[in-house]
Amino acid sequence: MDRLKGKVAAVTGGSMGIGAAVVRRMAEEGAAVAVLDREEREGQALASELTAKGHQVRYWHCDVTDGDQFKRVLDEVAENFGSLTVLVNNAGISGPNKPTHELTEEEWDRVQTVNVKGVFLGTKHAIPHMKRAGVGSIINLSSIYGIVSAPDVPPYHASKGAVRLMSKTDALLYAPDRIRVNSVHPGFIWTPMVEHHLQTTGMAMDDAKQATADLHPLGHMGEPDDIAWGIVYLASDESKFVTGSELVIDGGYTAR
Ligand code: NAP
Repeated sequence: MDRLKGKVAAVTGGSMGIGAAVVRRMAEEGAAVAVLDREEREGQALASELTAKGHQVRYWHCDVTDGDQFKRVLDEVAENFGSLTVLVNNAGISGPNKPTHELTEEEWDRVQTVNVKGVFLGTKHAIPHMKRAGVGSIINLSSIYGIVSAPDVPPYHASKGAVRLMSKTDALLYAPDRIRVNSVHPGFIWTPMVEHHLQTTGMAMDDAKQATADLHPLGHMGEPDDIAWGIVYLASDESKFVTGSELVIDGGYTAR
């Protein structure tokens, strides 16, 4: 119940999918949680639902590609809740599913801007607050595709590889400040992102879901809570000796 008591967390892309599950579990474990997203309706509804249950949750409109807005929002979160000690860099997009030679430069840049620059901007503007607090945990959503690859969505795989190593660099840079930085590597989790991605495969949805499930030795896709519980652990003091690590939650996908 109180695994995150006293923590103040900001979760980007927190309105739906994995981010929304993270917001729920963190709030239930006693954290004050800021939902940062560009999906206003879902984010406000989630914040209202959890607030009505007695949790401390508030929605902020925040596009992670806008550095000024991201800084202002994190400053407001810290002012509103008294500090900022946890950042979950979760917002991400899968981008176009085309082979490399058919991608435009704009399509490539868009994915890197959200998935890579967004993590940089969040980290950049959260660090001063965490230094002030004397403690922090930054959790970056990479993917199984930050560890292995697949013959599709080239900009996405590149972006998740970048996030994996950015996490290790920042883990080393900020360890003296007691700020931990870790990456999380989900297999396929049933969310709006995966639903949209499977629509690009040209297969019937049921067939695409089954083929995707079969990629995992456990025989099925994961659900958002499978990832949320791992993130609660990394945000909590239970993981106080864990930094620069890769938490793989993938139904055995990368064990082959
Ligand atoms: P999702 O269902 O698409 O939800 C992502 C949320 O982030 C959406 O609310 C989305 O809003 C928001 N978002 C996107 N770009 C944003 C931006 N520039 N600023 C603020 N918010 C933004 O995705 P998900 O499946 O939960 O994935 C969450 C994270 O886990 C991503 O980083 C993803 O790469 C990673 N991941 C997911 C899986 C999986 O199987 N689901 C596997 C490995 C890694 P919009 O709807 O407006 O875009």
